[in-house]
Amino acid sequence: VKQVVEILLPNALNHGFDYVAAQPLPLGAIVSVPFGKGETLGVVWGEGKANLPPGKLKPINIHHDQFPPLSEAFRSFISWAAWYNAAASGAILKMVLPISEIDKTGRVQLHTAVDISQLQLAPLSQAQEQAAQHMNNGIGKGFAVTLLDGVTGSGKTEVYFDTIAHALKKDPGNQVLVLLPEIGLSVQFLARFEKRFGFAPVVWHSEITPAKKRASWQAIARGEARVVVGARSALFLPYKQLSLIVVDEEHDASYKQEDGIIYHARDMAVARGRMEKLPVVLVSATPSLESYHNARQQRYHELSLPVRHNEASMPTIHMIDMRKALIEKQSFISRPLREQLANAIAKGQQTMLFLNRRGYAPLMLCRVCGHRFQCPDCSAWLVLHKSRPRLECHHCNYFIPVPSACPSCGAEDSLHACGPGVERLFDEVKEFLPTARVAVMASDSMTSYRELQDTIDAMGRGEVDVLIGTQMMAKGHHFAGLAVVGVVDADLGLAGGDLRAAERTYQLLHQLSGRAGREVVQGHVFLQSFLPEHPVMAALLSGDREAFMQAELTARQHAHMPPFSRLAAIIIEGEKEDSVAKTARAFAGSPVVVGSKQVELYGPAPAPLFMLRGKFRYRLLLKAGRNVNLQALLAQWMEAVKPPSSVRVKLDIDPQSFL
Ligand SMILES: [Zn+2]
Ligand SMILES: [Zn+2]
Repeated sequence: VKQVVEILLPNALNHGFDYVAAQPLPLGAIVSVPFGKGETLGVVWGEGKANLPPGKLKPINIHHDQFPPLSEAFRSFISWAAWYNAAASGAILKMVLPISEIDKTGRVQLHTAVDISQLQLAPLSQAQEQAAQHMNNGIGKGFAVTLLDGVTGSGKTEVYFDTIAHALKKDPGNQVLVLLPEIGLSVQFLARFEKRFGFAPVVWHSEITPAKKRASWQAIARGEARVVVGARSALFLPYKQLSLIVVDEEHDASYKQEDGIIYHARDMAVARGRMEKLPVVLVSATPSLESYHNARQQRYHELSLPVRHNEASMPTIHMIDMRKALIEKQSFISRPLREQLANAIAKGQQTMLFLNRRGYAPLMLCRVCGHRFQCPDCSAWLVLHKSRPRLECHHCNYFIPVPSACPSCGAEDSLHACGPGVERLFDEVKEFLPTARVAVMASDSMTSYRELQDTIDAMGRGEVDVLIGTQMMAKGHHFAGLAVVGVVDADLGLAGGDLRAAERTYQLLHQLSGRAGREVVQGHVFLQSFLPEHPVMAALLSGDREAFMQAELTARQHAHMPPFSRLAAIIIEGEKEDSVAKTARAFAGSPVVVGSKQVELYGPAPAPLFMLRGKFRYRLLLKAGRNVNLQALLAQWMEAVKPPSSVRVKLDIDPQSFL
C-alpha cells in the first residue's frame, strides 16, 4: 500500500514536502529522498497533504531503519524549539541531522563499550553524598530541574559523576548528555572522566572531523554512546534513550548561540527535559540570575555545596584602589600587585594575571594628528598584535601590517599604542620579573588545543611562574600550585550598560578567584579597580553572594527586566544604510506594537556595533510581560512589516548580547 507522507527536510523551511512511501513508515523515521538535483536526508513528519496527484510525487529512496525513528516527544521538542526561537523547524532538524551519509561506516572506530565494574568514583563527603542521593533518586522519575550550586572547588563534578554512574547502572540502555561551555577547553575534564569511569565519553563539538562526527552521530542514534560530552549543539542530537542532561557552568554566556539559529542551550536543555520527561541538572558556582530566581521560586530544586572539598579554604579577596595605588608610568600592574607577584614567586608559588583583552593594545593612534586606526567594515578600533605583528579587527578578518608612518598626516614615529592587552602585560612582567617563567593563554595565542593543553600541563607541572590570560583562563582549570591571582582591570566588564554587566562581572571575577588556593596553599586574589565601592566589588570583597544576587534581583524587578519580563531583540542588517533605517522605522511604526498595552518598544536605534562586516545595523528591543505570547506577536509583526529582501532581520529571543 503506497502512502503519501510529509517529510521534513534539514533546510530553512518550516514545512515538509510530500513523498510516496512504498510501504508504511513510522512517524519519525529517518529517510533519504530526492531533492532538487540530488538527495537529502529527511524525517517522516506526518501524513502528506496529497494535494498533488500521486504520479507527480517522488518516491522515498531509502529508509534508514538501522536508526530508530525520532520519538514523538523529540519531534515535539524540535517543533517547539523552532517556534520558541522564531526559527524554521527544518533549521532545527539540520542540527539533529548534521551529517549527510549516515549509513557509511568509516575508518573512525569509537570505543563505546562500558564496563560498570571498572568505575572508580571518588569518595564523597556527607554533603556531596546527600546531593548525589537526591539526584540519583530522580533518574527515571520524569522531569525535574536541579540547580547544583556549590562554591568553586566544592566537588560538584564528583557529585554529578555519581549520578551519571547511577543512570548507567540503572538501565543498560540509558544515555547521559553533559554539556560544557567550551568543549575544546575541557581536556582536564575528559581526563578526569576517564579516570573515574574507565572509558572515554563520546565527544561532540564543531572541531571534530567529519569522519569522527559521523561515527559519533551513529553511535548516539543507535544508543551505543552511553555518555556524550558536548558543546551546545550536542543538545539537538537524536539520542536513542536519553536519561539525564547535565549543564555544567550553566551561567556561561557561551551557551547562547549568536550566529545562525539564535538559541540558549541551557534553556533548550530544560525544555528538552520537560518534553522528554527527563531530569536536568544545572551546575554552577555562580548561577545565572534566571536560574537563581527559578530556584527561589521553587521551580528548580536547589542543592548547595557550601564548603570546599578537602578542607581547602576560599581565597582571600583584596582590593587595590587604582585611584590611590602607586603605578609606574606607561605600566598597568600597580606596585602593590607587583610586590605580591614577586613575593609569591620567591616562595615558589604560582601566579596568574587576568585581563580580558587579546593582543598588545586595544587601540593605536597618531600623537600628531589624533588619527585612530579603525576597521573599514566594522565600528571597531583595530587591535595591535605585536607577536604577528599587525593591526587586526576582532570582529572580522581584516588586518593590516603595522605602518611606520601615520597614514593621515604622514608623521614618522608618531604612532602610540593605547591601553593594555595580554601581550603588553607579558612585556611588562618580563621587565620587572626578568627571571620569571611567563606564559600567555589567550584564544589567539593558542592556535590549537594541543598548544593550549601544553600550557595547561606546563602550569600543572609548576613550570610557569606567571600565567597571563583572557577569560578562557577563568574556566574550570585546576592548578594546585596557584596562590595569587591578579585582575588587572576588574572594572572592564562593567562598562557598556549591558543588562547583565554586573552579574557577568561578578561571575567572571568569582570564577577567577576560584582558581586560587584550590589545594593546600591559601589563595589571594587582588582586584585592581577604579570603582572599589561598586556593589560588585563590595560583594566580592565581603564574599556575600546572597546579598549581591538579591540586590540584582530587586534591581531587575524595579526595572521590570528579565526574569520579571521577557525581551526580544530585532536586529536589522543590510548593505544600504537607508533601507536598513527605513525598515527599522517600519517596525517601530507598525500597528502591531504602536499603542499596544502588552509590550514596550525601545528603538529603533543604530546598534552599538553600527557597522559589522560591511553591513549597517539597527536594533529594536521589545519588552513584554511574562504572560504575553511573544513569539505569536513577533510573527504577526514580521507579517505586517514584510521587510524587503535587501535587509536581513534577525530575531533574538531572550537576548544576552546588546551589541
Ligand atoms: Zn597623524
Ligand atoms: Zn572588522
